[in-house]
Amino acid sequence: MQPDQAKAVESILNNSAAACKRLNEFTAKVFRTRGGRIGSGMGGRFARVSPQIKEYFIGRASDVAILRDALHIARGSSFVEAGKCPDKCKSKACSHVGEPLNSNGNRERITGPETRRTKKASYQANFGGLVRMLKCDSPKARKIFREVCKKNDTVWNFASFIHRNLPAEEVNQYLKSDWIKVAEKLGLREIPTKQSDLVENVRATGGRYRAVLRSLA
Ligand SMILES: [Zn+2]
Repeated sequence: MQPDQAKAVESILNNSAAACKRLNEFTAKVFRTRGGRIGSGMGGRFARVSPQIKEYFIGRASDVAILRDALHIARGSSFVEAGKCPDKCKSKACSHVGEPLNSNGNRERITGPETRRTKKASYQANFGGLVRMLKCDSPKARKIFREVCKKNDTVWNFASFIHRNLPAEEVNQYLKSDWIKVAEKLGLREIPTKQSDLVENVRATGGRYRAVLRSLA
């Protein structure tokens, strides 16, 4: 990292909490949306709704992209290679090298080879969707996810950030047998057969269950 980049990163890290706080104060003040009556006959109580930032994630996008790209390949998808553009562009004129294609060879972004634009969707933006890109639907993808998470703190922190805020994604990220392993490692006496109970018991032990998830082979 260049010294000026490091300085910028430091500045962003140092000021983010204050920036979020100010933004929250601002939205609370400005967006006094009346969200409707709560219940009925409650003496006309109204909910005041305003969006508030509860948590944020700051980390190197290039680290997260390592996982995104590896999982993209694990899904049977690909990237346009130099000299192999589906548009048959002449090498020098091709601006599509590196564009993601899904497992059917179709575009995953608003940019990409024209001949691979699907008729159904005029706008493609699946590639890199923050939540979608973590989804693993095969043993191969799960293995990659775990390997990258183990090695890379930024990726792990990113995955944890998503999972803290979308707990259902965390449940789906791991197999039931994984949750059982975690429960055993945490020394839970009772291992419920129902997955939702199992996960609930694991989570009830506190935040350290995530470190055990990260350690899974
Ligand atoms: Zn091309």
